[in-house]
Amino acid sequence: MKRIHHWIDGALVAGTSGQAGRVYNPAEGVVQAMVDFASVAEVDRAVESCRLAGETWRDSTLSRRAEIFFKFRELVDRHKADLAGMLTSEHGKVFSDAMGEISRGLENVEFACGIPQLLKGEHSEQAANGVDVYSVRQPLGVVAGITPFNFPGMVPIWMFANAIACGNTFVLKPSEKDPSASNFLAQLLKEAGLPDGVLNVVHGDKLVVDRLIEHPEVAALSFVGSTPIARYIYEGGTRLGKRVQALGGAKNHMLVLPDADVAMAADAAISAAYGSAGERCMAISVVVAVGDIGDPLVAAIEARLDKVRVGPGTDPQNEMGPLITREHRDRVASYLDVAVEEGARVVRDGRNQRFDNDGFFLGVSLVDHVAPGSRMHTEEIFGPVLSVIRVATYEEGLRLINNHEFGNGTAIFTRDGGAARRFQREVDVGMVGINVPIPVPVSYYSFGGWRASLFGDTHMYGPDGIRFFTRTKVITSRWPDPATSKIDLGFPRNR
Ligand code: NAD
Repeated sequence: MKRIHHWIDGALVAGTSGQAGRVYNPAEGVVQAMVDFASVAEVDRAVESCRLAGETWRDSTLSRRAEIFFKFRELVDRHKADLAGMLTSEHGKVFSDAMGEISRGLENVEFACGIPQLLKGEHSEQAANGVDVYSVRQPLGVVAGITPFNFPGMVPIWMFANAIACGNTFVLKPSEKDPSASNFLAQLLKEAGLPDGVLNVVHGDKLVVDRLIEHPEVAALSFVGSTPIARYIYEGGTRLGKRVQALGGAKNHMLVLPDADVAMAADAAISAAYGSAGERCMAISVVVAVGDIGDPLVAAIEARLDKVRVGPGTDPQNEMGPLITREHRDRVASYLDVAVEEGARVVRDGRNQRFDNDGFFLGVSLVDHVAPGSRMHTEEIFGPVLSVIRVATYEEGLRLINNHEFGNGTAIFTRDGGAARRFQREVDVGMVGINVPIPVPVSYYSFGGWRASLFGDTHMYGPDGIRFFTRTKVITSRWPDPATSKIDLGFPRNR
């Protein structure tokens, strides 16, 4: 059986804890590898390696860092099919979707290539007589990233590219369910010229995360995953005075106004609800149909369901793969019983689709007349189940979006620019699409939700990523100028 090791000091290191996790091929339902789970001592070793590497990495020139990321960009691009293959094999998403994930990750690498520009400080000449004031951005030291299963390539890059470019060293704890891409990315960074120890990868579960929270040498924690764990990491890290950004779960609404193009809205809902089997934090899981668009919209979505091809991600004809584990598939499927119990109308039950192997497959499901505030509406299902809520007015739709626990992403579909602009201003959600169902910001903006979808003050990647991974220092300086020298015992004044 294949064994997946840690990556420490620029090399694969076999685990010594005796603990390991199963890595499945979800399309076949079989274990394909075991991944080492680190002990506290192994986490400490990775952190110490980062600490030592940081002594010189923080002094690396900006040009050198940019050069490494330019090379890394080329290597990831050259190996994108290999990386996407790992994603398809361990996560299950279809190969074309996996290629899309890698290409969005590449955009974050491209952003990090601009680090000389991004780390510029501010400068005020003559703030007082002969005095200049300026700010610099300095790295935090050793920082850690903990990532979820659903974007095993892109989310680690979201974090480590900016963190390392800013002069930090980075311990990555990827999801134990699909860990291979992280090791491969670390290997490519080494090939690009990154010194050993600047990026270490330790695999494992709660024990590793707890040690990273507690380790006195880890200055900051960046997390993406479910809300209970995000809250746990935020509270644990900030209690110890650490900087934490912790992105949590989601339940994204797509508000469809009566004037929307029904075909376009139906295409968008299908793409955003079932892409990656609904295992995206930006997936649309609730369509909110306003007024009399409800019936034609549900009919248009239903008419398209037969065309969604579900099967192994290695077959280029398939558009949707399996779920990550058997337990998760069964949990998602159980919501179809919840829907019936809650009086909603199951238009399509994905459990009725049969698959000829033991993969963790579930067909696409559509549930109409979901009640606001019911479990179908409030809970994150994280699978290929699309709910429809009918409302009478825009205001009613807005209210149910703004009252929801999560505020990650949302979208409005309309031809009315004024209504769209009003929604953009009034909705309490961090990322908004206007006729765009999955509004994941480009790499030169930042990614983040509101309310229970994010704990912390900064969003992920982009300008906020640079702010998160640096601290500013302000220098007030006066150089001797014999012409201005005098004794003055008063408090320094600037006017
Ligand atoms: P998860 O919270 O179960 O796991 C995320 C990470 O935390 C993993 O590395 C895991 O090993 C670790 N972890 C799990 N249990 C832990 C515990 N008890 N203590 C400490 N660490 C623990 O999330 P997941 O199932 O891997 O990913 C799916 C979730 O991530 C969904 O809720 C989804 O919405 C969310 N997500 C959010 C975003 C976002 O940007 N807001 C992006 C992607 C995924």
